[in-house]
Parts: sequence; C-alpha cells; structure tokens
Amino acid sequence: MALSVLSVASEAVPLVKTGGLADVAGALPAAVAPHGVDMVTLLPGYPAVGKAMGKKRLVYKWDSLLGEPARLLSGKIGEHKLLVLDSPTFFARDGGLYTDAQADDWPDNWRRFAALGRAAADIASGATRLRGFDLLHAHDWQAAMALAYLRFASDKPDLPAVMTIHNMAFQGYYEARIFPELGLPAAAWSVDGVESYAGVGFLKAGMQAANVITTVSPTYANEIRQPDFGMGLEGLITMRGDRVRGILNGIDPAVWSPVSDPVIPARYTHKTLAKREKNKRAIEVEFDLDESNGPLFAVISRLTWQKGMDVLPEVLDHLVGIGGRLALLGSGDAVIEKALHEAAARHPGRIGLRIGYDEALSHQLQAGADAILVPSRFEPCGLTQLYGLAYGCVPVVARTGGLSDTVIDANPAALAAEVATGVQFDGVHYHALRAAIDRVIALYHQPRVWRRVQRNGMKADFSWDASGQAYADLYRELTGKTP
Ligand code: ADP
Repeated sequence: MALSVLSVASEAVPLVKTGGLADVAGALPAAVAPHGVDMVTLLPGYPAVGKAMGKKRLVYKWDSLLGEPARLLSGKIGEHKLLVLDSPTFFARDGGLYTDAQADDWPDNWRRFAALGRAAADIASGATRLRGFDLLHAHDWQAAMALAYLRFASDKPDLPAVMTIHNMAFQGYYEARIFPELGLPAAAWSVDGVESYAGVGFLKAGMQAANVITTVSPTYANEIRQPDFGMGLEGLITMRGDRVRGILNGIDPAVWSPVSDPVIPARYTHKTLAKREKNKRAIEVEFDLDESNGPLFAVISRLTWQKGMDVLPEVLDHLVGIGGRLALLGSGDAVIEKALHEAAARHPGRIGLRIGYDEALSHQLQAGADAILVPSRFEPCGLTQLYGLAYGCVPVVARTGGLSDTVIDANPAALAAEVATGVQFDGVHYHALRAAIDRVIALYHQPRVWRRVQRNGMKADFSWDASGQAYADLYRELTGKTP
C-alpha cells in the first residue's frame, strides 16, 4: 500500500537553494518512491518557485494565516509533486530566502515560517480538504513548527511525524513575546512544547513533538549529544535516546554525475580520469591560474566559521609555497572574504577567487580540480565531499560528522588495502590543515597511488538507494503500514 508523506522544507532543488538542505529535500521524493512512498513537498511560494512550476491549481485559501491571506497551489516539477504556499507578503520579496539585501535576517522570519508550519499541519491533518497524509516530515527549523501545530492545534494530533535536522546551528529561536501571536493554545507554552530557554524555539518545538528525530549522518547524530555540537539542545537529544537516528544523505545522480552532468557543458563530463586534465586547464583559465605540476585545490563553500574558512587564509602561503594552487568559489563573512582577497593578491596566478554563488562553476570545479578542501568545524553530513568522491576530486576533510562517515583516510593501512578515498585531519587549526595539505601534496606526487584514491572514491556508492530505503523503513515503522 502506498504510504503518503507530506515533506515540508523551505528550499528544494531545482527551484531554490542556499545549501545542502535543498539538495536533500529535492532528491528525497525520488529516493523513497521505489520503496512505495508517495511524497508531496510543501514549499514557500517564492517567485522562483511559482515561475518554475508552470501549470498550477488553486486547492485551498486561508483568509488569514498568521495574519496574512494565503493560497495553496498544487503542481509538479517533472515527477516531483509540489504544494506551494502562495502568500506574497511573506514570500514574494527581493533579497534572499531568509535575509534581506544586506544579508540581515528578515525581521518577520518567525511569522513567515510559523505560517509555513501552520499550513503544513492543516494539510497533513486533512483540514484543507485535500486528502490527508500518513505522516508529516519536516526539515530544519523553518519547517519545524508544523509539528507543534499538528500536536497542539489540529484534528490529528497523533499523526506520525519526523523531524530532520540538517544543521543544529540554526534553531529559529525567538523572544517569548511572539508566543501569543502564533495561535497555539496556552498548553503549548511549556518545556514539552515550544518553550526553550524562556523563548520560543522552532527547532526545539519540532524535536519535542517528533516521533523520531533524524539527522543526516550517524556520527553527527552522536556528536549532537555534546554541548559543542548540540548548541543548547544536547539535553533534549540525549533525552530522546534511540528516537534520534542518523541517516546519511545520498547524492542525486540526475544532478551530480560525472558522465551525464546536467549543469555543465558536455566538454567537462568524463567517464575516465583522463578528461579531468582538460577540465583542469579550463578552471585555470576561468580562475586566472598559472599551469603547474602541483595539485589544484578547490573550495566550494559558504565562507563561515562553521566551514573553517577563517583558518583557510592562514594556510594559503604554505599551500602555495609547496606547489599547490587554489580555486575558491564561495561567499559569506566579509572578514573572511577580505583575508582571502589579501592572500590572492599575494599569490597571483596561484590563488583564484570567485566570490558569489554559481551552480555551474561548482560542478566544473568538481570535474577538474584535484582535491576539494572541506575543513569544517562541524558538518552534519556535507555534500561537497560526496560530489568530490563521485567526480574523482579527492576530498580533504576534517574528521567530524558526515565527513568522518563518508571519506576513508589514506593512512598506511587503507592505502595497503586499497580502500582510501581521501584525506582526513583532526581539529580545525593552522597546523592540522597544513599537515593535511602536506599529505595531499605527497600523495599527489605518487601518481599511481593518487589515481587509486580517485578511483576508489568514484566507485563508492553514495546514491540515494540505501538512504531512500532507510527513510521508507522509518515511515513504515511509525505508521505501521506495510508495503
Ligand atoms: P551547507 O548546506 O552547510 O552549506 P553542504 O556541503 O551540505 O553544506 O551543501 C552545500 C551545497 O551548496 C553543495 O551542493 C555545494 O555545491 C553548494 N554550494 C556551496 N557554496 C556554493 C557556491 N558559492 N556556489 C555554488 N554552489 C555552492
């Protein structure tokens, strides 16, 4: 029997993306479909979503959803079934999904995403006259209030619900004064509800109300029991015990495949490693880099403390000094950007920067750079190292979260067993990063070994098959529905 799931997210490829959440929310429906799960995704009605959707049908109207009128539209992108919360005051804005043009959070984010949650609970419980769903699956704090509304203010408070945490660092925490405006009953104001450290915690509310909390790698599921990773919610995670699970993200072969990449021109795609050399030349041109016989490192990242990007500039003199080069694509903290510009100015032809967001260029870098650097302080799953593995761009990663779970360090034992797929290092600081770069350069100059590491990565299976099955199994466990 098909099991129907309402998945709620604030972004999903190919429509809107600021990070890995979008990759996962976009890939999940196709990943669970072979396992008998019919998934519909609810997204906010950003202009890009409305435009991409083409034909859409009005299925419901709210006179007031958190104070604004809203409509529910239904449509499809390819096989992906969508529901879109069309409320222009909330979602049709110039600027980012969560921030204004100055990169400051929209001051009414709490209201925007409470509205998304309220709508999701209405839909999942059948209040919108659409068919009801067997289970509600919310992603991150922006969707988390769906679970609170379901439990405290719907006709189906017992509907099974899953809360997935893609990054514990973003919790949607607001002052207590917003509580009366949420339209929740007084009973929701408790530690078993939405109250968190005397404020309203969106993610916390979702975690509290979920039957099962998942996060996107087994190691991160364990790490968030500690304060450094749990960021205030470690107590709740510990209390939920085996109700907290880790399911690794997969990668979507329709979007990330070295042989049939849909985003980059055909000249970059490759079945064998040979073509990567040509792709590297193209990157050198693109980033104004000199040719050299040393490795070309890539970084594709938000330029933030989480990603270890504050440490990167410190180590670039050394990286260049021992024959490396860097092509970096990213944007974020102004201080980090400035330090990177200064390093690039010291090393023309060796360090190339592209500050901004460029989907096609991110694929080109994976198709041509030798190694991808991911020095994250914490990393729930991480996707860029998975794309690197698939494309033969060797990942060089900090040993944390999903990076630990997906990369096999090229230590002597792994090299002897011919299973190494990358380089891992402990701790995100100058010396650790420097030592990792030294190891990469030494490996790179042993071409046979290097190629073996690349090939091992390309053979590794990070498709959605296993994870799609794991989510479907979880849905069945919670709903009691058998295939
Ligand atoms: P996070 O979601 O924490 O940013 P992930 O590694 O899970 O980190 O996912 C990042 C996603 O965003 C990847 O698909 C990566 O390729 C993409 N990405 C990050 N920065 C850029 C950029 N500047 N341009 C294009 N894609 C980017």
